[in-house]
Amino acid sequence: STATIEEHQAKLAKQDVKFVFAQFTDIHGAAKGKLIPLKHLDDIVYPGAGFSGPSIWGTGLPRTGPRSEYYGRADLSTLQSMPWLPGYARVVLDGHVAGQPFEVCPRQILRKQVERLTARGWTLNAGLEPEFFLLQDKDGKIDSEAGDTLEKPSYDTKSLLRRTRFLEKLTASLDACGLGVFQIDHEDASGQFEVNYKYADALKAADNFMLFKMAAHHIAEEEGMIFSMMPKPFADRPGSGLHFHLSIADADGNLIFGSAKDKTDDQRGLGLSTIAYQFMAGLLQHAPALTALCAPTVNSYKRLMCGESLSGTSWAPAFIGFGDNNRTTVARVVYQRIEWRLPDSSANPYLALAGVIAAGLDGIERELDPGQPINRDIYEMTASERDELGLKILPQNLGIAADALKQDQILTSALGKNFVHEFVSLKSAEWMEYSQHVSNWESSRYMTKF
Ligand code: GLU
Ligand code: MG
Ligand code: MG
Repeated sequence: STATIEEHQAKLAKQDVKFVFAQFTDIHGAAKGKLIPLKHLDDIVYPGAGFSGPSIWGTGLPRTGPRSEYYGRADLSTLQSMPWLPGYARVVLDGHVAGQPFEVCPRQILRKQVERLTARGWTLNAGLEPEFFLLQDKDGKIDSEAGDTLEKPSYDTKSLLRRTRFLEKLTASLDACGLGVFQIDHEDASGQFEVNYKYADALKAADNFMLFKMAAHHIAEEEGMIFSMMPKPFADRPGSGLHFHLSIADADGNLIFGSAKDKTDDQRGLGLSTIAYQFMAGLLQHAPALTALCAPTVNSYKRLMCGESLSGTSWAPAFIGFGDNNRTTVARVVYQRIEWRLPDSSANPYLALAGVIAAGLDGIERELDPGQPINRDIYEMTASERDELGLKILPQNLGIAADALKQDQILTSALGKNFVHEFVSLKSAEWMEYSQHVSNWESSRYMTKF
C-alpha cells in the first residue's frame, strides 16, 4: 500500500498497538528482532533498525568487518498486529549493510530469485505444510496423554480434540493475519500435528511461515506445552516435514503448470505442462544441493534416511524421482501442482524457496527433462530394482549435502558466491562438530567390545 508512515501509525494506534516487533530471520531460520515503540516506526524504515553484525549468524563477518552494523529496513507491506500478543505488531525487515541490500540476507536472496520470475511475468505460489510436535517439556518428553501406544496415529480423534484450545487460538491468530487456515489434523506420530493454511507468493509464504512459528511457539507456551519443529525428534516415530506445494501463475493469473490442453498433450499422463516438467527436472537435477537448503540440520537426515525399519512408515523422501500422487518420491505430482517433499522446518524458508526457484528456472532455461514418473512405492523396491530405474538417493548426511551445494555452480551463481560460502562453512562446521561427538550409542556398543 502507499500509506504514509503516519497513516500506518494512526491505524495501529487505533488497534491499541504500542510496540512494533521488527523481525528478520537469521541464516539458520530463527526469528530475531527488536521491539520499537510505535512512535519510532519511521527510524526502522530509514535508516533501519540497527543490529550488531557479529552477533547475528550469517552476516558474513569477514566481509563486513568486526564493527559492522546490520540494518534491517522495515518492509511496511508486512506491517500487521500480532493478534496472539495484544498491543504488538510485527514488521519484516530486509537486511542492509553499508547502505546496500545485504547479499547474504536470506530475504534479499529470495527477493532476487523472485525478481527473475517477475521478469517473465510469473508468480511462484507456495503452500507450506508445517508438521510439528506438541511436547510436555523441554527435554522433548512426549505428551503423556498423547497416546504413546497408538498404532496408526494419523487422524486420531482424541489426540486432535484434546488440543482444541491451542489450535483455536492459533487459527484465530493466523486468520487475523490473513493466513487462511483450512485444515488441521493429527499426523502420523503420537503428539504430531499438521496445520494447513492458504498458499501465497514465495516472499509472502516465507514471511507467513515465520509468523506461524512465532505464533505457535507463543501460544503453546501459554498452554503449558512445547512446540517443536525438530525434523526427527524421536528415532522410532515419523519425523516432521515442511512440504512445499508449488505452482506458477502468469500475469493474467493462469496456472502455467497445467491446463486442460496440456493434459491431453501430456504423454506422461499427469496433466502437467512442459514448463512444469522442466521446472521439476531442475528440482531433481539440483536435489543434492537443495538438500543442504531444505534439510539443513544434522537431525534432518534422520528423517530422510531410508532404512528397512522405516519402510512405509515415515513418508519422508529418500530417493530423487517424481510420481503421480506418489508420497515415496521427493516430488509428488498432485492436482497440477508439484509437492516438493524434501524440506523440513529446520529450513530457513527464504533460502529453501530461493533455492527451489533457482533450480526450477535452471530446468526451464536448459529445457531439462525429468524422465518418466515412478508410480510404485519406492519403500518397497529392492536395491537392485532401484538401481535398474537409476534412482539416486538423497544426500544421507549434512556433510554430503553441504558439499553438494558447494559443488553446484548454477545454484552458487544464482544465490551468490558469498552466501554459499557462508552457508557451507557454517553447515560443514555443524556436521564436523556432530561427527566428533562420542554418543552413548557408541560407548555402549564399543567400550568393552574389542
Ligand atoms: N511426516 C512426513 C514427512 O516427514 C510426511 C507425511 C505426509 O505425507 O503428510 O515428510
Ligand atoms: Mg503431513
Ligand atoms: Mg504434504
